[in-house]
Amino acid sequence: MNVRGAVGCVMAAAAVVSTLGCSDGGTSRAAAVAIHDPALDALTARVEPGWWRGQGAETVEVWVCRVPADSTAPAYGGLEWRAELDPVRLTDELAPAGDYFATLSNGVYRPFFAAGGVVDLAATDGPEQCVEAALAASTTAADVVLAIADAEQAEGQPGGLGNGGDCPAAPPCPATQSRRYAYVGASDFHPEWGDRPPLDLVEHELGHTLGLVHSGYDPTAPQPYTSALDVMSNSAAPRDTQPDRRDAPGTLAIQRVIAGWLDLASLAVVPSGGATVALSPSAGTDGVRGLVLPVDDLSFLTVELLPAAGLDAHLPHGGGVAVHLVALGDDGIRIDPLAGVPADTLLTEGGMWNGFGWSVTVDARWRVTVAQAGA
Ligand SMILES: [Zn+2]
Repeated sequence: MNVRGAVGCVMAAAAVVSTLGCSDGGTSRAAAVAIHDPALDALTARVEPGWWRGQGAETVEVWVCRVPADSTAPAYGGLEWRAELDPVRLTDELAPAGDYFATLSNGVYRPFFAAGGVVDLAATDGPEQCVEAALAASTTAADVVLAIADAEQAEGQPGGLGNGGDCPAAPPCPATQSRRYAYVGASDFHPEWGDRPPLDLVEHELGHTLGLVHSGYDPTAPQPYTSALDVMSNSAAPRDTQPDRRDAPGTLAIQRVIAGWLDLASLAVVPSGGATVALSPSAGTDGVRGLVLPVDDLSFLTVELLPAAGLDAHLPHGGGVAVHLVALGDDGIRIDPLAGVPADTLLTEGGMWNGFGWSVTVDARWRVTVAQAGA
């Protein structure tokens, strides 16, 4: 059903908002008519089968891959240094990443780290063989396998891997069946970090095990992960301004939809007549946590408030309003930032953004007026 534009009200079951063209107390009218966006409906239908992941407690089994000194794998580039990694000690060091996901998901999801063991790689083995060996050795208690090599990734090699897998039978599935895994090299476990290693890369790769996708990814850029707004982009961004930070940034409203963590009623689809909406933080638990601006059957814009607080405390100028383009393609979901990258271009009071036939104006903290351009 697509009744967008049928009334001049923005409707959200959890929060009916005051809107332009809806001055006659549109609450009851709005409550009677749900406004749908076809692309959001299509995205939801695509991701919903994956919502068995990332709910409640999951066991992430930690495995160490020993890379031999004579390794010829390109991923390790002949680098000599090896970390002394103990799966039991690693579970302690990784524990804050469990807290991170509990915060990120507003308590919906908490991974627990359990010690797996150690596997020895052959000289020609790289990250893929590390993952395969760890999966093969993992127990049926493992929902996810996290494999950590004791060698660093060579310059120019991806720092990690992550896979959301699939559950061919009825969920839940052990990692051996689902092939949900994350992999990182040893760099973040260098002794210089002491017992507080950076966890942002592990958190990014675990994000992939939930089906999350990259945002702000530009393979042609010198640093392809361009966005400080999302764990699924530049996960190390908080440390640029807060050196003591070890966690990744928070994430975007649309990633929360992908993970199954966001009540869709807390998103408001803006009708063609536009709307004025008081935004609540997308990381919060109440109010309007995001606007959806229709573009076409396979894409839409999202508008959300990211205050500089909690996991997003690294954002400059108190944070602000971000705009993203979300597009469904045959090969996946694309999320491209349009306002907010770099982070000091987040929209603040008086700020305005135009594109895709829409204008977005921040009237006040944090009231936003959205209109169709030219209207
Ligand atoms: Zn990634």
